[in-house]
Amino acid sequence: MRRREVNINRVLSSTVVLIFLTASVLTAHAAGTTAIVGGTVVDLAGKASIKNAVILVAGDRIAAIGKAGSVDIPEGAQQVDAGGAWLIPGLMNMHVHLGLVMPGRMTAELHDESEAALALRMAANARETLLAGVTTIRLTGSRAHADLALMRAINKGQADGPRIFSAGETLTITAGHGSKKPGKRNYDGPDELVKAARTQISAGAKWLKILISGGIATDGGGLAAALMTPGEIQAVIDAAHRFGVKVTAHSGSPAATNIAVDAGLDCVEHGYFLDRPTLKKMKEHGTWLVPTIVVTAPGTQPFFERMGMPPWYMERRNSAGKLHWRALEMAIEEGVNIALGTDQLPHEPNDGTTATALEAQYYVEAGMTPLQALRSATIEAARLLEAEDEIGSLETGKYADIVALDKDPTQDIRALRNILLVMKGGKVYRNNL
Ligand SMILES: [Zn+2]
Repeated sequence: MRRREVNINRVLSSTVVLIFLTASVLTAHAAGTTAIVGGTVVDLAGKASIKNAVILVAGDRIAAIGKAGSVDIPEGAQQVDAGGAWLIPGLMNMHVHLGLVMPGRMTAELHDESEAALALRMAANARETLLAGVTTIRLTGSRAHADLALMRAINKGQADGPRIFSAGETLTITAGHGSKKPGKRNYDGPDELVKAARTQISAGAKWLKILISGGIATDGGGLAAALMTPGEIQAVIDAAHRFGVKVTAHSGSPAATNIAVDAGLDCVEHGYFLDRPTLKKMKEHGTWLVPTIVVTAPGTQPFFERMGMPPWYMERRNSAGKLHWRALEMAIEEGVNIALGTDQLPHEPNDGTTATALEAQYYVEAGMTPLQALRSATIEAARLLEAEDEIGSLETGKYADIVALDKDPTQDIRALRNILLVMKGGKVYRNNL
């Protein structure tokens, strides 16, 4: 239905044309084949881009991709004219809370939010996420398993949203980060944590998130403190890996991160105070970093002011900012695996763009090439998820998750600021081409 509306919008010059187009689109719908023609396909391996390309989409996958003339377009295929546009894989944001509640005003407004209301708010945010060009997200902490219900609804076509990989509910210890949130269960000792880990896995979580240091948004321990014991960390990671489930850790702390990386941790969130030896160890072990640099970057101050954040939060955020930025610079220098994540809603308006586009821009300012930053938001994120055979690049056989831009993002990452087309699984959700 949406695809039809989008195409109708493009040709309003005459009623006759409109009727004809509607009919032809309906036919194409039946055939389920779309050809995106005329655009330039960006090569994520840094090779030459494909100019005047054809991407043939059959059902929800890319059926063929190549220069015009080298790909047969079946009769009746719907055509999307991407002339002058640059085509990249759908963006991926690896640190998202669709039900995010920030301290201050939001907490006051949502203190009695029901689980049903939460799910609906998350569904609305999922739709906005998708329209912002983000076709895959990893959820790093949700409430009441609304995340998993939403994931299933999206997969069934009952709701519009990105592909979701979720860590379910975070695993926190008594007195730790987030432990005092109303209704939040805390777990202490390896036995309780193993039980909690398996409970999340049983509910459908494909990741687990442990909170091993303090955080900015709560008073549960210092950012540099190693709050969880090595035995607790090891127990969760072992329990998760036995089910093929990966573990990420909220950590600002070099000490906590060192313990967790030795225990086989897969990924570190934020990494506020990470030092060079810790980053070298992460590089050695192949541990991922999801920087969420928009959380502390000075340029996002207006966002936090708009959210009505309390002074204590602003103080914690600003005091962490310099070291967080330095940690990101060093992680890039050391070649640590980095996947993009924001800890803000992917579509959150920020500095004239979205949090996702701004995060990528900061990676370039911190030392990445535009191509590296683009990769962190696409194929590298797919590698983090071990889903690189399905998503993360524009290749035959992969899901047709495609975004069009008006500039070459490998020349200027700010190209991500202007999203012209969003296709997920072969379906067009937004078309401003
Ligand atoms: Zn977070």
